[in-house]
Amino acid sequence: MTPEEILAADAAHVWHPYAALPPAMPPYLVQSANGVRLHLADGRALVDGMSSWWAAIHGYRHPVLDAAVTDQLGRMSHVMFGGLTHAPAVELARTLVEVTPDGLEHVFLADSGSVSVEVAVKMCLQYQRATGRPQRHRLATWRGGYHGDTFHPMSVCDPEGGMHHLWGDVLPRQLFAPAPPGGVDSPPDPVYEAALVDAVERSADELAAVIVEPVVQGAGGMRFHNPHYLRVLREVTRAHGVLLIFDEIATGFGRTGTLFAAERAGVTPDVLCVGKALTGGYLTLAAALCTAEVARGIRAGGVLAHGPTFMGNPLACAVANASLGLLRGGDWAAEVARIERVLRSGLEPLRSAPGVADVRVLGAIGVVQLDHEVDVDAATVAAVARGVWLRPFRDLVYTMPPYVTTDADLAVLLSGVAAAIAVA
Ligand SMILES: *Cc1c(COP(=O)(O)O)cnc(C)c1O
Repeated sequence: MTPEEILAADAAHVWHPYAALPPAMPPYLVQSANGVRLHLADGRALVDGMSSWWAAIHGYRHPVLDAAVTDQLGRMSHVMFGGLTHAPAVELARTLVEVTPDGLEHVFLADSGSVSVEVAVKMCLQYQRATGRPQRHRLATWRGGYHGDTFHPMSVCDPEGGMHHLWGDVLPRQLFAPAPPGGVDSPPDPVYEAALVDAVERSADELAAVIVEPVVQGAGGMRFHNPHYLRVLREVTRAHGVLLIFDEIATGFGRTGTLFAAERAGVTPDVLCVGKALTGGYLTLAAALCTAEVARGIRAGGVLAHGPTFMGNPLACAVANASLGLLRGGDWAAEVARIERVLRSGLEPLRSAPGVADVRVLGAIGVVQLDHEVDVDAATVAAVARGVWLRPFRDLVYTMPPYVTTDADLAVLLSGVAAAIAVA
């Protein structure tokens, strides 16, 4: 197919994320990707400021990751996981237990982030049921969150950002506390803390679990909060027999400056979800990890009732193992700290630009919040004209580049962000 034929067929037949059919603006046609660059069919190359939605932390066509997939392809690309097992999945589970906060012992391999959240919720519901508290079937969270697009995850997304008004009685009704006050370093607010504790205590008898994204709320609004509130949640949930789920699908694997955001709080949740960067952005894979206590509870009631067809896919596990090997063998922390410095000094001057409401940076995440809804098409075109790929949403122009992005490419990226803001 010629590029024109591909785009015509795309418009005729293909859904894109959160898009009308056909989309208002046609997508850009990518022919290949290498390092931090997306190569378009028309010959242009774009520095990827999105890491393909938080995933491609090592960039594209990384020789070690390519080799891991090729090597695994020579053995088997897939076998069912019911009644069978294989080294790539077992090695991955063992590594995840090693690198995640202490106390998480058991790993369920799911095929996407949303499914891992479904599994995490199911673990908590089954645990409460098996330990004699079946009335504990609701979830609590705070506003401003995002946990995926399938129905249970949607029910704990921010009610406004998650468009709950569209879903009426379809979604399970969960409990929402106010969003945590902004700022990783802003002093804890005792009034907010008391309200948070009160919200959990008041409903504890009907709560299976509290679910939150630690430190950084991603697609719900790119807001950061003080890890202190995570310790507060850990204490109040433990005191009342409510489980605590951390969704680290966006924050995991170094993005915020620590390998997992939970480390900043020094707490271990009962269940942890990881995804996105798990395979270095190569293949879809996620995991829900739980403690021995949660697994023991579930076992008392029988089996964990979940089993995707492509569970533990060997290709995905092999490349996840290679990606974790790159992280453990390299100095990702120094790279993320370098990116944080460059983003901070590059984005800070935009604070005084017209229409800018806030600028915030944490780890390899840079956010410019506007005082109005972004004109996504205009911002995209302006960034592309500077050789940069960005995907703004709501009132946010943001970037979370691959960790391998050089200072020179970060400069290109920053010029794209500035150009996007100027027209947004
Ligand atoms: C992206 C994301 C999900 C959903 O993951 P998918 O792989 O898109 O299903 C869930 N939670 C968080 C925090 C995410 O960023």
